[in-house]
Amino acid sequence: MRNRRSRTQVLTLLAAGAWLATTGGLWGADSVAFSGGRAFENLKRLVAFGPRPSGSPALVQSRRWIIQELRKTGARVEEDSFAAATPLGSLRMTNVIAKFPGLRPKVVIVAGHYDTKREEGFRFLGANDGGSSAALLLELGRVLGARKNALTYWLVFFDGEEALQEWSPADSLYGSRHLVQKLASRGDLARIQAMVLVDMIGDANLDIHREDNSTPWLMDTAFSVARRLGYAKYFLDTPIAIDDDHIPFVNAGVAAADLIDLDYGPNRSYWHTDKDTLDHCSPLSLTIVGRVVLETLSEIAKSPHVK
Ligand SMILES: [Zn+2]
Repeated sequence: MRNRRSRTQVLTLLAAGAWLATTGGLWGADSVAFSGGRAFENLKRLVAFGPRPSGSPALVQSRRWIIQELRKTGARVEEDSFAAATPLGSLRMTNVIAKFPGLRPKVVIVAGHYDTKREEGFRFLGANDGGSSAALLLELGRVLGARKNALTYWLVFFDGEEALQEWSPADSLYGSRHLVQKLASRGDLARIQAMVLVDMIGDANLDIHREDNSTPWLMDTAFSVARRLGYAKYFLDTPIAIDDDHIPFVNAGVAAADLIDLDYGPNRSYWHTDKDTLDHCSPLSLTIVGRVVLETLSEIAKSPHVK
């Protein structure tokens, strides 16, 4: 069956489209606010699955739950499975992609990883590192699904961000490297206008430094949004360069920015340790980053960089 629109509906849509094109804004359903509280509830749920390294039953279970939650938003949810060549042999990995079609087919990706680092000898829960990004994306999905969007959004949950043995170009970023390769091979990469990455943004003591491998105009956009929203003290101009899931996109010529807080605990002592737990994360940090990401999406829609 095919849904045909009446002429009046078409004209209304055209008018809305013209308005959206000039404002980059939204129309339709009442806008739903991003809730750090809800995002934190998502985080609790993810941590309850236990350590979630690539290939583990706990990651399969958390993926099932993530997909179930995403489907409630009305998004088209896809599993992007592939065989990753790792130092431990071939490993099945799966990215999750939730697509929210907008008025325009141009795509902006918001992404994060949902796997946690494989650790021997202690229980690595990855509340912040792997948990917070996935928890924030799920709440973003609730917001994006409840409104009409000017651009098309894809929320991407990467598998295999972490190294299985030791971080190297070959042993890291499995999910993002795979997705960029796949999009390029299908000629779909040109549709992607921008990619905003979040990582370790649940830190209760939030300080996001300007990440230096990111695309300058996109990072400028996010940082000026943060200042405008009154969050300057959490977004610091002193730069830091980090390898993360945005790198394969940057290397492929896609504008990408990584919002990451690597200063986790005194001297990073909570990073990749048994101290990466829920009590070192906060709903407020998730609220701050969630609001900055949403407002950055609005700015991207208005940006001259988006063709
Ligand atoms: Zn990590």
